Amino acid sequence: MSYKSLAAIKTDLGSGVITLPKLVAQYLETIEKHKHLNAFLEVYTEEVKEHALKVEGKINNGNAGKLAGMVIGLKDNICYKGHQVSASSKILENFTSVYSSTVVERLLEEDAIIIGRLNCDEFAMGASNENSAFGPVLNFADSSRVSGGSSGGAAVAVQSGMCLVSLGSDTGGSVRQPASFCGLYGFKPTYGTISRWGLIAYASSFDIIGPITNCVADMQLVMEVIAGADEFDATALAKPVEEYTKTSLKKKTYKFAYIKETLETAGVEPEVKEATENYIASLRDKGHQVEAISFDLLPYMIPVYYVLTAAEASSNLARFAGMHYGYRSKQVKDLETTIRNSRTEGFGEEVKRRIMLGVFVLSAGSYEAYYSKAQKVRRLVQDKTFALFEDFDFIISPTSPTTAFKIGEKSDNPLAMYLADIFTVHANIAGNPAISIPNGLAKNGMPIGVQIMGRHFEDAALLALAKSLS
Ligand code: GLN
Repeated sequence: MSYKSLAAIKTDLGSGVITLPKLVAQYLETIEKHKHLNAFLEVYTEEVKEHALKVEGKINNGNAGKLAGMVIGLKDNICYKGHQVSASSKILENFTSVYSSTVVERLLEEDAIIIGRLNCDEFAMGASNENSAFGPVLNFADSSRVSGGSSGGAAVAVQSGMCLVSLGSDTGGSVRQPASFCGLYGFKPTYGTISRWGLIAYASSFDIIGPITNCVADMQLVMEVIAGADEFDATALAKPVEEYTKTSLKKKTYKFAYIKETLETAGVEPEVKEATENYIASLRDKGHQVEAISFDLLPYMIPVYYVLTAAEASSNLARFAGMHYGYRSKQVKDLETTIRNSRTEGFGEEVKRRIMLGVFVLSAGSYEAYYSKAQKVRRLVQDKTFALFEDFDFIISPTSPTTAFKIGEKSDNPLAMYLADIFTVHANIAGNPAISIPNGLAKNGMPIGVQIMGRHFEDAALLALAKSLS
């Protein structure tokens, strides 16, 4: 059977219905069975079998950690010492991590079992997983459709029961959007809540690691383990970790806002609109207040996001030069050809597009007009968002304007693809936490997600709310 929560696994482990080695064997079988979905780039088959025996021993001795029984997959941009990590790029193919990310260390300390490495868009740039150098990930609900992205493998692995939980990264929606396309929970914490140490950087002032799960309870558990200050990441907040699993709602009813335009924009599929309206109606039925508001900066979200993230990416990806590590072209004769040819051959089309855009907006002649202007608009978005949260507790919107689209449908139209992020980038621009919650199915069987954004640093309260609504 496919487990949907750690609690259910723990019950069956406790009563002897299953053992940890058997559970791991089941996941390995499921991975084999659904290989064609292309969710895993690598499965740590032998290693997890040994690990399962070790953790089982600890369970029997009564000294196992909080996550004993949890089998987790890692997006291929999160480093795990001694294991390959490629950011789904040819430029890092066969590269082995020399250290573990802080999240991996914390998961292992609590006896989680890491089962493998998950496909994603190259350097986390994309919204469909079609930008991976290792092929797209297919949606388990309909394999002619995309998984969403960039954490597509992370979503499909959980959707198809190949692991219980996965970790993705979210720079503009990469955890929430694939979670919504696959009918799962996906959480982007407040910027700085989780250390980025060992996360391959895309846009450092936006990037954050986030879990994809079947239920909120698992999300709370994982957050409690991986969140918190870290001496290796100065942007990881020094605040004490919230008690996610113990936080309950302070009030019975809350004030929600929804940005009118998010339901009126032409690009929103009618079924997504209807599902969101129904969700709003159900909130009202539960006694919550929901008000429509205007947010005149909405049209600027996508341009601001793409100018700033491209700028940061062009700087972060400068290190992949065919010099210290990663791919080096065979066609080299001097320094310039080494760098030029290695990057030309090693990076995919979308990554190159963003590097060029980033270099352009940072160049002397364009800096003021683009980069600096986008920074100013980012600040305006932040200020306006903070002001909104003085009047409202939560902001609700669809997670994505559409359900999972057909593979190939948008891949030759980058602008259409960028619009998939229209509702998710807000939380990354402003830094706020946001969660995608499953919100039913469209007539064609594809999942729909609804997004709820919360106040800065009130991540545990947002998850407690999500739990109360599920
Ligand atoms: N789809 C967005 C992009 O392409 C988001 C990516 C992400 O969150 N990593 O940039």
